[in-house]
Amino acid sequence: MYVPDINRSELRYEAVLIGGGIMSSTLAVLLHELEPEARLLIVERLDAPALESSAAVNNAGTGHAANCELNYTPLQGDGTVNILKALEINKAFEQSLEFWASLTEKGKINPQKFLNVLPQISIVWGEPDVSYLRKRYQELNALPAFADMEWSTDFGELAEWMPLVMEGRAFGQQIAATRTLRGTDIDFGSLTKAYLQSLEKTGALELKLSTEVIDLQRDDKRSWKIELKDEYGISEVYSPFVFLGAGGGSLTLLQKSEIPEASQYAGFPVSGQWLVCSDSELTEKHNAKVYGKAKVGAPPMSVPHLDSRWIDGERSLLFGPFAGFTTKFLKEGSGMDLFRSINKANFAPMMQVGMNNFDLVKYLFAQLRLDDDERMKSLKEFLPRANQKDWTLSVAGQRVQIIKRTNQGGVLQMGTEVVTSADGSLAALLGASPGASTAVTIMLEVLQRCWADKMSSDGWIKRLRALLPSFGKDFNDEVLLIETRKRSNSLLNLM
Ligand SMILES: Cc1cc2nc3c(=O)[nH]c(=O)nc-3n(C[C@H](O)[C@H](O)[C@H](O)COP(=O)(O)OP(=O)(O)OC[C@H]3O[C@@H](n4cnc5c(N)ncnc54)[C@H](O)[C@@H]3O)c2cc1C
Repeated sequence: MYVPDINRSELRYEAVLIGGGIMSSTLAVLLHELEPEARLLIVERLDAPALESSAAVNNAGTGHAANCELNYTPLQGDGTVNILKALEINKAFEQSLEFWASLTEKGKINPQKFLNVLPQISIVWGEPDVSYLRKRYQELNALPAFADMEWSTDFGELAEWMPLVMEGRAFGQQIAATRTLRGTDIDFGSLTKAYLQSLEKTGALELKLSTEVIDLQRDDKRSWKIELKDEYGISEVYSPFVFLGAGGGSLTLLQKSEIPEASQYAGFPVSGQWLVCSDSELTEKHNAKVYGKAKVGAPPMSVPHLDSRWIDGERSLLFGPFAGFTTKFLKEGSGMDLFRSINKANFAPMMQVGMNNFDLVKYLFAQLRLDDDERMKSLKEFLPRANQKDWTLSVAGQRVQIIKRTNQGGVLQMGTEVVTSADGSLAALLGASPGASTAVTIMLEVLQRCWADKMSSDGWIKRLRALLPSFGKDFNDEVLLIETRKRSNSLLNLM
């Protein structure tokens, strides 16, 4: 029997990152900036990076900064608006901008290849929602981070902000919107590729494509043995640290790792569809991301929005998403993914979530029954003059929402969650939202939890401060915010 010599240096890496999407590539860049000598390996099962959720056509490309997404500022039972999540996401996005500004200054990435600046708008209709939006605006606008948010109920002004959305709308309809000019559309697929190209040039990163991780085991106290499958057969690599950045596939790998923490989790896949328009007459007339309010029971990722997109230099409009259901965890996954993930530990929490989220189940069934006419009806709430011939249906990326076992039973979580082994040798990223926009902050959390000694070492602190001058500082400090934005504004002004 062949016994690999694990001391052979080409089989050993300082870190093995599974999945070639935005998360692994962000972590790889951070690790390289902090530890330039480290040998890194990214393993990707498809024949190119960023073909799953990180592909531009598979996500909405919104630079989530909580400017326009109403699901980050829920109305509470006492009638107040909770803005805590919005503050957290805004801060995380500033950190992403700061990171890109630093890499741009170093000549490692070119923002013109992945970033466009455009207004981000929230829009609502009818008295209860207008009153909610006003409260949200008042709360946020009082803070330095949202001081440039504008409010309007004036038909003429709203028509200037979003002509297509206002065209054909009944004058006198109660309508309100907020606008933030400093918004972004991001091609996360191009960004992922730019990160990987910059790393490959350094020789620090090896990228294995068309290679699937089929198993991983803790082989002794120091190493993970990671089993790979490609067209030539099965092989192994070794590393003291593994990151499961496999998107929807992370839960499956987490379960394979058999760390005790894995038993707390189950997954619930939600697929999506967009209506897409590439008619240049229409795309030129709409220059914004316009987010509405989710229907009752809708999961946060189903907040309807009409977006200007730039993908590979081509401009388009995107509306949706419409939710769907498949049992796959990845777009290119297997219909057995969901069933294979069910085990003794997570079956009961899954059932509890099903019973406690009846609105969500009802919503998903209703979405599954939608036909073309009904999808157009939803679009017409945003674009009253929309014409079916201008729009085509396109399948979006797959998300796996987390179901977590807690003392209160199974809970459905809509955000992302970093799961780490007790010894810090493995980290996994589960969940989907706000996702790619906040990858830098999420990966810093991975480093904080798994590379804690290094993170507090003088060398890493110095490099982190050079890369992210605001790192570890209080973003509520107005002076710091202004200073940080000055730097990232120079990035945005490049557009
Ligand atoms: C419909 C939709 C809309 C979204 N809109 C936005 C948005 O507007 N803004 C935003 O910031 N975020 C958005 N997101 C979220 C964002 O797309 C994700 O958070 C992000 O792309 C996740 O990146 P990732 O690297 O974790 O996963 P992915 O990009 O899915 O990459 C995971 C990779 O792992 C590979 N893989 C899986 N299993 C294995 C294995 N066993 N071995 C080797 N490779 C493996 C896969 O092939 C894949 O390439 C959206 C997501 C969806 C689905």
